[in-house]
Amino acid sequence: MKITEHLKNAKSTLFSFEILPPLKGQSLKELLEGIEPLMEFKPPFVDVTYHREEFIYKKHPNGLLEKVSTKKRPGTVGICAAIMNRFQVDAVPHLLCGGFTKEETENALIDLNFIGVENVLALRGDAPKGEKFAPEREGHSFASELVEQIVRMNQGKYLHEETENNFHTDFCIGVAGYPEKHFEAPSLRFDLKQLKEKVDKGAEYIVTQMFFDNKKYFDFVDKVRAAGIEVPIIPGIKPITTLGQITMLPRTFFLDLPDDLMDELEKCKTNGEVKEVGIEWAIQQSRELIDAGVPSLHFYTMSKADATYKIAKEVF
Ligand code: FAD
Repeated sequence: MKITEHLKNAKSTLFSFEILPPLKGQSLKELLEGIEPLMEFKPPFVDVTYHREEFIYKKHPNGLLEKVSTKKRPGTVGICAAIMNRFQVDAVPHLLCGGFTKEETENALIDLNFIGVENVLALRGDAPKGEKFAPEREGHSFASELVEQIVRMNQGKYLHEETENNFHTDFCIGVAGYPEKHFEAPSLRFDLKQLKEKVDKGAEYIVTQMFFDNKKYFDFVDKVRAAGIEVPIIPGIKPITTLGQITMLPRTFFLDLPDDLMDELEKCKTNGEVKEVGIEWAIQQSRELIDAGVPSLHFYTMSKADATYKIAKEVF
C-alpha cells in the first residue's frame, strides 16, 4: 500500500523505522531477526537505505594508484523483497541521484516494480568524503530531478520510449526535509524553496532529518506550511546510544543538541549511561510529537533495534 494511504487510514500516530543494509551484504538472516521484535508495534512500512560504495586509493610500490572499495552496503532491493515477504509490511527503498545514471535508475525502478514495491524515498545522496557532490554524466544533480523521472515513469514515459499497452509504474514518492536546514543551503528559506520544488514535481510526503529539539520540528512544519507545501511531514527520531555519537551526529548531520540534553550527556562516562539518557530523551520527544498528532514516528535504528524497541514500548 502507498505510504499516503497508510497515513490517511491511520487513527493515531504510526510507528515506522529505517534500517541499513549490512556491510558487504553480511547475513540477511541476522538483519531480519534483529528487526523482528519491532514488528510488535505494527510498522506499516520499513525504509531501507542505499549507500554508495566508498573508495580509497592504494599506492603500489611501482607508484601506481589502485582504486579500492572499502565500504559496501549492497542489497537494498533484495532486503526490501525479504522484508515484504517475511513481515508483510511495505518496504521503502531509498534511491539516490549520486552514482546512478538515469538509465540505471530506470532499471532499478523496473526491478522494484516487479517485486511489488510501491513507495520510494528519492534522495540526492552525499558526495564521497572530502569531495563536492557531482552527478554522473547521465545522472541527476538534485532529488527534484529524480522525483521528476519517477513521475514520468508513473505516466508510462520511459527514457527512450513511451510504453505500449499503457504500462506504467505507480510509485508513491517521499523526499527528505531538514528542520535545521540542509548543510549546503545558504538559508532555510532557500532550502524550503527546493523542498517545494520536490513536492511540486510530485513528492507526496516528507521524512525529516533527525532532530533532538521538537521546537525545531514544529517551527519547520509551520514554515513548510507557510511556503504552501501541504503533504505529510514525518519526523525522524534517533536515540543517542554511544559516547561517540555525541560529537559524531552533530558533525555528520549538521544539527544541534539542546543544552538540556547535553547537560545530561556530559554526566555520562559509559556507552550504557549515554544509551539510558538517549532513550529517555527520545521517549519524551516521542510523547510530545504524538500529542501534537504527527503522522508517524520514524526511527533511525541503524539496524539496532533494542533502543527503538524500548522507546516504542513506552510510547505506543
Ligand atoms: P536535494 O533535495 O537535492 O538538496 C540538496 C541540496 O541542494 C540542498 O542544499 C538544497 O537546498 C539544494 N538544492 C536542491 N535543488 C536545488 C536547485 N535546483 N538549485 C540549487 N540548489 C538546490 N543518504 C544516502 O546516501 N543514503 C540514504 O539512504 C539516505 N537516506 C536519507 C533519509 C532521510 C530521511 C534523510 C533526511 C537523508 C537521507 N540521506 C541518505 C542523506 C541525503 O542523501 C543527504 O542529506 C544529501 O546531502 C541531500 O539529499 P536531498 O535528497 O535532501 O537533496
